Amino acid sequence: MYFQQTIKDRVNLSGIGVHSGKIANVTIKPAPADSGIIFKRVDVPSNNLIKASYENVVETQLCTVIANESGLKVSTIEHIMSAFWGLGIDNALVEINSEEMAILDGSSAPFVDALERAGVAVQGAMRKYIKIKQEICITDADKFVKLLPSEESSIECSVNFDHPMIGYQKATFAELNGNYIQEISKARTFGFVKEIEMLKNIGLARGGSLDNAIGISETGILNPEGLRYKNEFAKHKLLDLVGDLYLAGYRIIGKIEAHKCGHHLNNMMLRRLFASREVFDIVEMMVPFSACMNNAAILSREIAC
Ligand SMILES: [Zn+2]
Repeated sequence: MYFQQTIKDRVNLSGIGVHSGKIANVTIKPAPADSGIIFKRVDVPSNNLIKASYENVVETQLCTVIANESGLKVSTIEHIMSAFWGLGIDNALVEINSEEMAILDGSSAPFVDALERAGVAVQGAMRKYIKIKQEICITDADKFVKLLPSEESSIECSVNFDHPMIGYQKATFAELNGNYIQEISKARTFGFVKEIEMLKNIGLARGGSLDNAIGISETGILNPEGLRYKNEFAKHKLLDLVGDLYLAGYRIIGKIEAHKCGHHLNNMMLRRLFASREVFDIVEMMVPFSACMNNAAILSREIAC
């Protein structure tokens, strides 16, 4: 799809915030072309819009938090952003009556379900992409996020935990052939029980439970239903990574590789990228008529930005 997309109709969902423990009521609405994803705090009467942009990220310790110029925040946006990315939604208004997005089942699948219920609408404007021209990498000890030039967009994300249920795991996703809904969206967030207890002691993870996370003990996992994917941990990191990188405001044409990434490194990657204007172009995809007829290669062209 080379045109921008929004949703056809508004859709509601609600659920507990994993850190605040507060119920968030969320309404996702269609938005005009070129508006991007905008959050609106409907519990605040004015200056209540917060654009989903890497520049507005103010905290990354446990989740991704964005704020507007008035300091008004919305937190834990990475899973809904991942769902927007997965379903190819460019423009939407997300109304929320709380500071924290609902965690739902800890994956992006409930957001995907809601967006599918609303339906996808194609808009009359071309989608713009970031096309990587030169490799760019950000590292922190053995962690890294890397963007490489490639005509076929793909993501490779690995984790390494010294734990009998996890160890080294890798998840991969090819944008052209991949099925985000089936392969990625159901992967849940996870936490080590020891760390969750510590977070609860300092007033965080109040809404955290086995209904919205994989709980990891010293020797195994606590969820009686088991895992949804063999490599669910790496898949969830990939889910988070695409959600965080979608705060670029554009999809990325290139190869994304990450190892032990997290919200902080993901945001640092985008800040480094936009500070390195020579490593990427902003392009529109053009599908020549002949290509429509015979599936030939798709051309791209640079546009002013
Ligand atoms: Zn996550």
